[in-house]
Amino acid sequence: MDMLAPIKEVKGVGPKTAEALERVNLKTVGDLIYLLPRVYENYQAAVDIADLRPGKAIIKGKISDLHIIRTSRKRLTITQGVIRDHTGAIRTVWFNQPYRAKQFDEKREYYFTGRYEFKNGRYQLTSPSATLVQDVEKEDVAGFQPIYSAKSSLKPQTFRKLLDNLRPDFAKIPDLLPFSEGSPDFVKPGARAEALYLSHFPETPEEAEKGRKYLAYEELFELILAAKLNQQENLRLKSIPLTFQQDFIQKLVKSLPFQLTNAQRRAAWEILQDMERGVPMNRLLQGDVGSGKTIVAALAAAEATQNNYQTALLAPTAILATQHFESLQILFDSLSNKFKHLRVPRIALLTGATPHKKMLKNLIKEGEIDLVIGTHALLTDDTEFQSLAFCIIDEQHRFGVGQRQKLLLKSPDNTAPHLLSMTATPIPRSLQLTIFGDLDVSIVNELPPGRQPITTKILPEVQQSEDLYPKMRELLAKGQQIYWICQIIEEKNTNTATPVKKQAEKLKKLFPGVQVGMLHGKMKADEKDHIMDDFAKNKIQILVSTTVVEVGVNVPNANMIVIQDAEGYGLAQLHQLRGRVGRGDQPASCFLLTTGEGKPSRRLREMEKSTDGFHLAEVDLKIRGPGEIYGAMQHGELDLQVANLSDTELIAAASHHASEFARNPENLQNYPELASRIRKYQQLTTLN
Ligand code: ADP
Ligand code: MG
Repeated sequence: MDMLAPIKEVKGVGPKTAEALERVNLKTVGDLIYLLPRVYENYQAAVDIADLRPGKAIIKGKISDLHIIRTSRKRLTITQGVIRDHTGAIRTVWFNQPYRAKQFDEKREYYFTGRYEFKNGRYQLTSPSATLVQDVEKEDVAGFQPIYSAKSSLKPQTFRKLLDNLRPDFAKIPDLLPFSEGSPDFVKPGARAEALYLSHFPETPEEAEKGRKYLAYEELFELILAAKLNQQENLRLKSIPLTFQQDFIQKLVKSLPFQLTNAQRRAAWEILQDMERGVPMNRLLQGDVGSGKTIVAALAAAEATQNNYQTALLAPTAILATQHFESLQILFDSLSNKFKHLRVPRIALLTGATPHKKMLKNLIKEGEIDLVIGTHALLTDDTEFQSLAFCIIDEQHRFGVGQRQKLLLKSPDNTAPHLLSMTATPIPRSLQLTIFGDLDVSIVNELPPGRQPITTKILPEVQQSEDLYPKMRELLAKGQQIYWICQIIEEKNTNTATPVKKQAEKLKKLFPGVQVGMLHGKMKADEKDHIMDDFAKNKIQILVSTTVVEVGVNVPNANMIVIQDAEGYGLAQLHQLRGRVGRGDQPASCFLLTTGEGKPSRRLREMEKSTDGFHLAEVDLKIRGPGEIYGAMQHGELDLQVANLSDTELIAAASHHASEFARNPENLQNYPELASRIRKYQQLTTLN
């Protein structure tokens, strides 16, 4: 079977279906075969309502009395209904899925799969998934069935039917992976065909799992091989070697208002070593929030200047870019005051709000600016450099691959800049090996001395006046400051400013005599900067804000952060937000407010337990999978179908196998399908 053959060659695919399939990116026979079931359901295990026991349950029945309840807070919609079969009736409930109210035909029978549990004084089936009974083919006696996801107009049954048409040909699916040195035993002739067959037509859960495991391995192998090949390709690129100016760096370090931590020293040293080479550095600087990554990057930038080359520092928000600009300006000013003859970087800020952009861009082009700090405004085509040799990307996960590439193309012809990416969302080791396998990593795993621990507490909103306001008063009385984070409600017609305004009004009344400021995404950049500045100068004591303060912002006198609707955030984001406090020498606290319905999520409980970003990243990976954590994937560029990145054994095996294979990259020519499959991964991490 030719996996690369066009989709229209599949039996049962007419021109119209072919078009629909192509629209959802199913273009080849192989694409369809790799459309794996979303879940497997064991419909044989369906029970009568009268026999339900608490726990995961499948029932078969009709649904009626569907209606939506909006809670007083309006943040939560509850869809309720009643499911009936011949033995009885139960209530069913979905949270924040209002479409459920209109999804069902009350006359037809469905299988409902969900949790049967006791809540608010009665039993209910919580958030069930549903499948039309008619769609579960009756002749399938095993009753253990793959369930496909619908894709735009294409129904799950369509996929099932087409795959069934292909079924006789499955045995002819060619092998994909090399049986080369280092491959594990289960990579053998016919194994791929078997795995795909078992994934689509399993008779037991064990068979489905066997198929999944092989395909997960295959996916990991491809991902890791792509990273390795990129690494080799990057080694063929040329960059400008920047000589390590030891004397200069030592002077700079001595002039700092503090001593570098050992971790900072080590990271800086690794970076400066890398930049001496004629191949581009591709290094990730990982360090928890507040570990002091900026200064490490600044040292490297100063060295580029010393070598007479330019540096660009890209930050995700104007607030952050401005802050970097201001703190580096202070740093370099004090340096040039101390050492009159030293060549310290001439720096400039370039954001959307920068006045006289054209003039500034001219200066950059003529090489009159050594270090440009900016936002996306840096990426436009008319921002040209004279001699860009070094790029720093702060909070790299906030940028897509395309954006990164745009910056990297601004170096002089035939060279690629040295790249330092920074992130405060630590990347778990398993991900490092796979997706980021071609990156060198420096870790700042030590906080500057004197930092105080942050106490974190989950608090139901109803207890605010009792347990929170007194603590806020106490802190304000000590002259300290507070962040109050409001959730943005993602509804079309809401103004993001509304919750912020309301909350600010409320706090003004509660804390008379205290200045309450507001910050949100709808504000103009200069308004935002103004407010941030007032907060930094303690002209504002309570700052009510959306997550625009999330990244990087540094106000050491702010020692409390209250996060409203904390359940609405991901773990990485919560950790980032919490990192706004505990930056000075006073103890700090973080309150996670919940609406108080049900038990707090694992995410929040982990936040209470740990302030270690590396630990939290591992937990996050387990809870959510990598999909939502990393930028590239948020942009839909990487979508792991099967592999589970906490499967360390499989990753280790695939990594070994891929390394062996990558020793002779020309061998890839003998594996055209593999080569075509890994191309999409290669685009993710390349520096080209
Ligand atoms: P992040 O790693 O989160 O980007 P920053 O670079 O913003 O952290 O640094 C946080 C704060 O710590 C800044 O105010 C910075 O000046 C300060 N800082 C950095 N390194 C040290 C150090 N070695 N000793 C004391 N303070 C430091
Ligand atoms: Mg930072």
